[in-house]
Amino acid sequence: MEKISIFDIYKIGVGPSSSHTLGPWKAALNFVTSLREIKYDRITIQLFGSLSKTGKGHGTDIAVQLGLEGHNPKTIPTEEIGFYIQKIQSTKQITVENTSINFDPQRDIIFHQHEDLAHPNTLTFHAYLSDKQIAESTYYSIGGGFIQKKGETKTESDDIELPYPIQTGADLVKYTAETGLPISEIVSLNEQAFRLKKVITQEIADIYNTMVECVFKGCNTEGILPGGLNVKRRAKALSKTLLNGRVFETEKEWIEAIKQQPRDFNSINKWISCFALAVNEENAALSRVVTSPTNGAAGVIPAVMLYYYFFCDYKGKEDLRKFFFTSGEIGCLFKKGATISAAVGGCQAEIGVSSAMAAAGLTELLGGSPGQVLMAAEIAMEHHLGLTCDPIGGLVQIPCIERNTMGAMKAITASNLALTSNPEDAIVNFDQVVKTMWDTAQDMNTKYKETAEGGLAFNVPVAFPAC
Ligand code: SF4
Repeated sequence: MEKISIFDIYKIGVGPSSSHTLGPWKAALNFVTSLREIKYDRITIQLFGSLSKTGKGHGTDIAVQLGLEGHNPKTIPTEEIGFYIQKIQSTKQITVENTSINFDPQRDIIFHQHEDLAHPNTLTFHAYLSDKQIAESTYYSIGGGFIQKKGETKTESDDIELPYPIQTGADLVKYTAETGLPISEIVSLNEQAFRLKKVITQEIADIYNTMVECVFKGCNTEGILPGGLNVKRRAKALSKTLLNGRVFETEKEWIEAIKQQPRDFNSINKWISCFALAVNEENAALSRVVTSPTNGAAGVIPAVMLYYYFFCDYKGKEDLRKFFFTSGEIGCLFKKGATISAAVGGCQAEIGVSSAMAAAGLTELLGGSPGQVLMAAEIAMEHHLGLTCDPIGGLVQIPCIERNTMGAMKAITASNLALTSNPEDAIVNFDQVVKTMWDTAQDMNTKYKETAEGGLAFNVPVAFPAC
């Protein structure tokens, strides 16, 4: 049984993509760590499949360079990324483990446009000494920032004993029935097998703070997003309009102002969109976001969380625990039973999963039973089934940014439907929708799986090469 912590689903990192940025970044870090005892004077990186087709637009080339230099995606000052990349470009040198080696990104990062390997997100590193190859490692970026090294099957969590091993939604409901505990509490007890309680508390605070900082930054930044598509940021203008033209210097003042906002449907609807736009505009600008469960879909969870925080009955930090434990476990279940990678399953695996996660977390907070929590997740995914991934120009901007607003609204609708329904009357259960998403992923034409070769990416021509 696969053991996944909710903190594998929620990871603090850098935009714009978890599978194309965070995963390759971690693979590069892993590769240079494996070379510690070896002498080498050159490294090359080969990118295959979706990593090659949309890698430029998704920042894969930037990510691997930062990984080779040993930068941590969780802590790197994002405003310095441009400087590091420019330095490598102009000096044709990269600093690996305190040693400078020759590295020309144009020559040493190779995009294999027409060569697909077994996994759609494959990258291979080679190290050389005096032109003789001395090391080779292949990694698969399997979605949500998870990586798998070719030839390795053991994971760090293999030896951890969970009090409540969960593989399906049915397992989760069974444990709640046996113990009388809510879903969030079952998940909390499992998480304590992975890490200490005080570490969990800190990690939840870090995730929450990073999400709010990201929304605040997005709501206070204007201009055109990078990449050449000329997409104009909209979150700041929307936030300013909703706040009657006022702009706030500090996060605290801004939060207090939103708390005083009208609570009619239209205002709340616009705020939810504003929060989601803010996160995904920041993501597209290579800023710090929380992968949840991916970067392209990183706006859904903060938008729904802040909907609850501002417009429902937020009672304190305990609510955050409930929300992240419940929503995170739903992400784990989709990763175990289907996929959270758009290169494998299209956008249903990104926005669909994030919407299902948010629907479940919100339903737990609003007092739903375990059956209603899973029902909310099922409804949210059911209405994302078949959603394709077709980012224009290979950039995580169109349709991605707006799509997060839709995922958030569907999550809230799904939660409301579940809270007013009896799960025993449901014809479709959660595990059936997970399986259906996986079946659909396998049937989906490859061009709709993060290749920028189909859908909007095909019909909306752009004036610059995707890669
Ligand atoms: S279309 Fe969906 S899955 Fe594809 S990059 Fe955009 S958000 Fe991610």
